Amino acid sequence: MTDISTITTALSGIKAAIDIAKALKDSDHFLEKAELKYKLAEMMNSLADAKLAMIDAQELIQAKDKEIIKLKDSLKLKGKLERYRYVYYFLDDNGIKMGDPFCSYCYESKNELIHVVQDPLKNRDFVCPGCKTVTDWHRLDNGV
Ligand SMILES: [Zn+2]
Repeated sequence: MTDISTITTALSGIKAAIDIAKALKDSDHFLEKAELKYKLAEMMNSLADAKLAMIDAQELIQAKDKEIIKLKDSLKLKGKLERYRYVYYFLDDNGIKMGDPFCSYCYESKNELIHVVQDPLKNRDFVCPGCKTVTDWHRLDNGV
């Protein structure tokens, strides 16, 4: 369910509950107890639907908040990272590469910084523990 349709569902449930309450308030004739109970049950169902839709909307908003934080962090990092020979490095204040390299696939596709590590099965190749991309160590040789 998209976030807009979730909110629309919640609003529909609330509107239905208000309409039922208004009809009960404005009713000129005496309602039988069974009819009154039926109307109240309808109203409770509408409010329950609205509550569930609002819970869905809350979860969607929280997921979007997390994504916004991740994107903001990614933007902050973008100026401090440089791609060099299939991997990314942090740059120090002088623009010199520092530390261990990060997987370019994970950074470019998922905005995740995952260090590549030496592959114990393939002599001197590096592998990303996240996506399993293997990089020949000669490609990483940058004099760091
Ligand atoms: Zn990766």
